[in-house]
Amino acid sequence: MSKRYTITSALPYTNGPIHIGHLAGVYVPADIYARYLRLTGNDVVFIGGSDEHGVPITIKAKNEGVSPQDVVDKYHAIIKKSFEDFGISFDNYSRTSAKIHHETASEFFKTLYDKGEFIEETTEQLYDEKANQFLADRFVTGTCPKCGNEEAYGDQCEKCGTSLNATDLINPKSALTGNVPTLKQTKHWFLPLDKHEAFLKEWILEGHKKDWKPNVYGQVKSWIDDGLRPRAVTRDLDWGIPVPVEGGEGKVLYVWFDAPIGYISSTKEWAEREGKDWEPYWKDEDTKLVHFIGKDNIVFHCIIFPSMLKSEGSYILPDNVPANEFLNLEGNKLSTSKNWAVWLPEYLTEFPGQQDVLRYVLTANAPETKDNDFTWKDFQARNNNELVAIFGNFINRVVVLTNKYYEGVVPSASEFSAVDSATLAAVKAYPDVISSSIERYRFREAQQELMNLARLGNKYLADEEPWKVVKVDEARTQTIMYVALQIANALATLSEPFLPFSSEKLKHMLNTKTGNNDLNWNDVAQKEVLLASGHQIGKAELLFTKIEDATIQAQLDKLEASKKANEAANKAAEPQKDTITFDDFTKLDIRVGTIIEAEKMPKAKKLLVLKVDTGIDTRTIVSGIAESFTPEEVVGKKVTVLVNLAPRKLRGVESEGMILMTESAEGKLVFVNPDDANVPNGLQIS
Ligand SMILES: [Zn+2]
Repeated sequence: MSKRYTITSALPYTNGPIHIGHLAGVYVPADIYARYLRLTGNDVVFIGGSDEHGVPITIKAKNEGVSPQDVVDKYHAIIKKSFEDFGISFDNYSRTSAKIHHETASEFFKTLYDKGEFIEETTEQLYDEKANQFLADRFVTGTCPKCGNEEAYGDQCEKCGTSLNATDLINPKSALTGNVPTLKQTKHWFLPLDKHEAFLKEWILEGHKKDWKPNVYGQVKSWIDDGLRPRAVTRDLDWGIPVPVEGGEGKVLYVWFDAPIGYISSTKEWAEREGKDWEPYWKDEDTKLVHFIGKDNIVFHCIIFPSMLKSEGSYILPDNVPANEFLNLEGNKLSTSKNWAVWLPEYLTEFPGQQDVLRYVLTANAPETKDNDFTWKDFQARNNNELVAIFGNFINRVVVLTNKYYEGVVPSASEFSAVDSATLAAVKAYPDVISSSIERYRFREAQQELMNLARLGNKYLADEEPWKVVKVDEARTQTIMYVALQIANALATLSEPFLPFSSEKLKHMLNTKTGNNDLNWNDVAQKEVLLASGHQIGKAELLFTKIEDATIQAQLDKLEASKKANEAANKAAEPQKDTITFDDFTKLDIRVGTIIEAEKMPKAKKLLVLKVDTGIDTRTIVSGIAESFTPEEVVGKKVTVLVNLAPRKLRGVESEGMILMTESAEGKLVFVNPDDANVPNGLQIS
């Protein structure tokens, strides 16, 4: 029974590339679902696009001295390419800066406005006097009123997930200037979520108790139980979609109001291109709408967007929102700012052609019910012990032996043994087993079942040993190879949602891309013959290759380097020392000098003996810099010297003064010296 599906996946925010957390949480499961539904003959539109408005983009643009449009153009291109590279099979990938989106979102707002669905209110909002700007969302940080996290944002606390208004924050601080904001009056439009409470209770809490994931249902319930409040859907900002009504000058739609409408405008863009009608995909009760998102987006997709759709009146509501929890990396939270991530463009450079391995491992560890961990050791083990040793090994044996014994022609079977019949019957059960898991959004379980089919094939060949039988029983060997080839072709089809690149390769090897040996999902269960006798297959190619320890170690080393850099960057500054008088300061005689000779202090790891021209004399200074510099590196260096420090003996050498040093983020010593190399020796520092 064919059905119509609209599948959306969270619009990635265009202020950076995407990493494995995004792929595991949203895009791989959404892609498995979409590919599976297409293979089972459904009418599917799989929608994506870039989220290009909102405050963080304007902050990034300001910091980099470019326009917000420059920022989004750059990352939209990078993100779009990553999705293509990893086989995320969007029917359309759009962007919220597109004209069609501005029109669609603007119209949507206007409709709600005309229907009187908003509350118009002049309220006091946080204002930064120094930046001359209202502060909302990411422009302001402060303490979360719910959990006490001191780094909560003006729209959400990332620690406890609470959705906030900027004025809820305790001790708010401007992210632009660090100033304490004042309150200033401004007019905004609010969506009265409290008015939709009854509908949300009935629709989700009563209607989706059984079929929504417990993590999603639980979060929604806790928000509704806490009581919903009106939520501002406009902002005082100049980057975004202008508020299309009177009094809206200088204001834009709140990014979380316009972004989900991006699903609709991307569908429109697709329909226009394909010559289709977009409306049934969003307005026909027979369409199943499914939103794939991460857990930080639950409130927007389960409460705010449905309230918007309901207020508009002509749209359907999501059938399910199978949000995932978070993926961690080697035991730590993924973080863009700390560079604690595996970035997709980087992965592809380091593991060319191995997209399926990453898809496979991310699905095997998908954070479906709780946060989960990605580790490089596990990545290696799953590749080597599962993809190579089971799936790849089975396929390789089947294709190589068929070529060796029969010049690549599928042999015909004579009499099936009990094992043969049981094996063929078991193969036919797999489509249903895998379907049942996918349709309940259990992609890990579904992929495990796919691997069980590969295991079945691998075990069958290992038990039946055609390479031995071939010496004694020609007819039996043909039957064994026939059975094995049936399993191989079932794998070619059933693996497509999970391992699209390998499926494609396998179909090429089996030469089933044309003709009637290319199976759809249901064929595997229903067709008597999955790969016909007499069919010519191609040559063997390697589906997966072993990953060596050194490759994994290189990845671990890279993460270790990130960790060290973070520690250095976060090193807390020493507290200020006791106050001194100006007279105290003038007692220090600090001058510019030049190192003219340098040698290692014998038997001392850290010390160099330096001859320094101080402008008043040439003197010996012993300095503890030998671990950061060789003698050759420092000769000729301009330095700053405290010249009136009482002389002291170090290892028998009298040191007359001290060279001023500091330390880089990596812990290397750095000379403190004048900005201009032309400062003559002997000049005082005051
Ligand atoms: Zn909090």
